[in-house]
Amino acid sequence: MTAGPGPLLAVHAHPDDETLATGALLATWAAAGAPVTVVTCTRGERGEVIPPALAHLEGDGSALAAHRERELAAALAALGVADHAFLDALPGPDGAAPARYEDSGMVWLAPGRAGPAPDAGPGAFAAVPVDEAAARLATLLRARRPAVVVTDEPGGGYGHPDHVQGHRVAARALALAADPEAGLAGAPYRVPVVLWSAVDADQAAAAERALPAAPPGLRRAGVDRVPPSAAVPGAQVDLRVDAAAVLDRVAAALRAHATQVQAVATWDADGGPAVGHLALSDGVLRPILRHEAYRLVGGALDDVRWPVGVGR
Ligand SMILES: [Zn+2]
Repeated sequence: MTAGPGPLLAVHAHPDDETLATGALLATWAAAGAPVTVVTCTRGERGEVIPPALAHLEGDGSALAAHRERELAAALAALGVADHAFLDALPGPDGAAPARYEDSGMVWLAPGRAGPAPDAGPGAFAAVPVDEAAARLATLLRARRPAVVVTDEPGGGYGHPDHVQGHRVAARALALAADPEAGLAGAPYRVPVVLWSAVDADQAAAAERALPAAPPGLRRAGVDRVPPSAAVPGAQVDLRVDAAAVLDRVAAALRAHATQVQAVATWDADGGPAVGHLALSDGVLRPILRHEAYRLVGGALDDVRWPVGVGR
């Protein structure tokens, strides 16, 4: 008998990031019958709200948080993910007070590149001591013992301070989980393979050209758009996930995040670089790429078993 893939654990800053950045990987892993855990660091309570009918949620942090928790639950169900935790709900290090990690907010520095908001609150996730948040995640890593962990790259994908902090916390948690001297519950555990979520810049450029004219109320990206920090040349992509094979699940999960994602469409790409499109609150039409891309930053690809649809 051949063993299936081991457990996968993904760390994300906000509800919707699991789907936007890693939806195909999560759906493919779950469809293979292997365990998948998603950890979300905040509830995205400072997000902009797209549907006019839900505009009252914008700026009402607790109401938007509650709404986005429900959106996240629906998205995870669509992806087939059964195990989810909010980072602040996990047990903290000895003596830690109960925590509530809040969305730090962001401002656009340039189209496609974000920076810290000037008015992040005292509970902002970006200001939480890294070791405190990392201890919570490390304890979960020891309990779940994933074969693969996936998280943002150091630039936070596109610069959002919560994504940057999520990267720092995940990196520290991986070290703490493996450290016998860390003073945490559970047996020490070294995660065999660590992935950073990436964007294949070559495929993204081709997909951008393949987009249709923007529907009314939306627009195509301008020439001033800055590539996300997650973008790398195609030759530097270590692992690809076939998004076309799980497109229905990913599209359903995208639609579940209705406060954050609009204009979701999929098409028979016939081998092309894009398999659909969507837009976020900025109204810019974005391709759904044929392949999710990942960089390998810990371990070797041969160290673990991959589901069908995930490979070089
Ligand atoms: Zn996010």
